[in-house]
Amino acid sequence: MPVIFEKSVSGCKGVTLPVSDVPVQHAIDANYRRAEDAMLPELSELDVVRHFTALSRMNYGVDTNFYPLGSCTMKYNPKITEKIAALPGFAALHPLLPQLSRGGMLTQGALEVIYELEQALCEITGMDAFTAHPLAGAHGELTGMMIIAAYHRDKGNRKTEILVPDEAHGTNPSSAAIAGFTVRSVPTDPDTGVLVPEALDGLLNEKTAAIMLTNPNTLGLFNPHIEKIAALVHRYDAQLYYDGANCNAILGKFRPGDANFDVVHVNLHKTFGTPHGGGGPGSGPLGVRKHLEPYLPISRIVKRSDNTYALDYDHPKSIGYIAPFYGNFGVCLRAWAYILMQGRTGLIDISENAVLNANYIMHSLKDDYDVPYLKTCMHECVLSAKNQAERGVHAIDIAKALIDEGFHPPTVYFPLIVKEALMIEPTETESKGTIDAFIAAMKRIARMARDNPEKFRAMPVTTPVGRLDETRAAREMDVCYRG
Ligand SMILES: *Cc1c(COP(=O)(O)O)cnc(C)c1O
Repeated sequence: MPVIFEKSVSGCKGVTLPVSDVPVQHAIDANYRRAEDAMLPELSELDVVRHFTALSRMNYGVDTNFYPLGSCTMKYNPKITEKIAALPGFAALHPLLPQLSRGGMLTQGALEVIYELEQALCEITGMDAFTAHPLAGAHGELTGMMIIAAYHRDKGNRKTEILVPDEAHGTNPSSAAIAGFTVRSVPTDPDTGVLVPEALDGLLNEKTAAIMLTNPNTLGLFNPHIEKIAALVHRYDAQLYYDGANCNAILGKFRPGDANFDVVHVNLHKTFGTPHGGGGPGSGPLGVRKHLEPYLPISRIVKRSDNTYALDYDHPKSIGYIAPFYGNFGVCLRAWAYILMQGRTGLIDISENAVLNANYIMHSLKDDYDVPYLKTCMHECVLSAKNQAERGVHAIDIAKALIDEGFHPPTVYFPLIVKEALMIEPTETESKGTIDAFIAAMKRIARMARDNPEKFRAMPVTTPVGRLDETRAAREMDVCYRG
């Protein structure tokens, strides 16, 4: 499709302003005036509208079709939360308005939203205190690592290592490393697909500052040994970190705080119905138990005895500022509206349906694809294309074929410990009809891999560009446009 500059017609105008009948008051100094006209496309208003409408139709999103991108939770975001986030009383609020006195009437509502959101997240995860400051999941992890470092420093503990299971999201080891820790990888048990307590032998010791766990893990499996692992870890005063980026399987079912986790981050943009994709916007609030509360970033939001809300900076042990103002407010607001809208029973329904949908897909496809861990999964399931790969059809080929079937591909080649991984997260918002259509497409693709494996080479054929050489694109990046 031509870029808008190629559609330009010299002299064509979108808007024609009347000739000015007011005398020129301040002519721009000749030094600052252009010698030539700016190179801008010249088009009519209608041509501009058609150009951008056509581009928008080339986008793929949750609002256009099924998007089972595992670990990313591309569920439908109710439009009511968009409406609430756009209310001028919130959207037009300046972050430097006073909290109280004159102007306080304008900011008290926003402070209340964040306060109530933090309280709700405490209740949902079983933690004692939350901060809505972190601007993404990875940022929440980094904040958690900094808090754990501050805690150990304060106690005089000499701790240098963080344990991370080998199936963890890549942000876990990155966050620990950026916070100054050495990362040690813990192998997942190949038979059961979860971390077993014995795996910590020889890894867990006096130097261990914390272990970061995702539960259910990235294989979609819930770890039944959590209590035992918690006891082992706490014996060394190491902290138990819960990567709750995806809480879609545990809402109202399992609270990390009840299982003795010390630190939890949640991704509002994954679990709590706020739109994301293409890098943001996000929000990764962090919760801690009592003993870590003094280290939370400032400012904190407090509710005073007269029911007003204020920002509190008086926390001498705090790790300090991690972001300007207070979090990604628009995302927090959407999440708070979403939680209120769902209520207690609605949140429980989310988990039950997310888990049901993932198990339905896994069992419907178990004869067509290898399932490395065929047992009840949580909100996502991991299949493997290893049998198809023997005929030359790899996970990436299946992903491209799905595009031609009209679906967004699942996450591929992650978790790293499963060969040819296809990680499918249907979410709770999809109807049975949509999920059945996806299953039918996956079955057609499995049949094609058996009968016509060479057909995959050319796919996708329905997109504006076909199969790209992604490695070459990364190594020899050239972003110049040539018509
Ligand atoms: C998405 C995700 C993260 C990272 O969250 P971002 O908001 O993308 O930084 C961390 N852990 C898990 C398990 C995730 O799914």
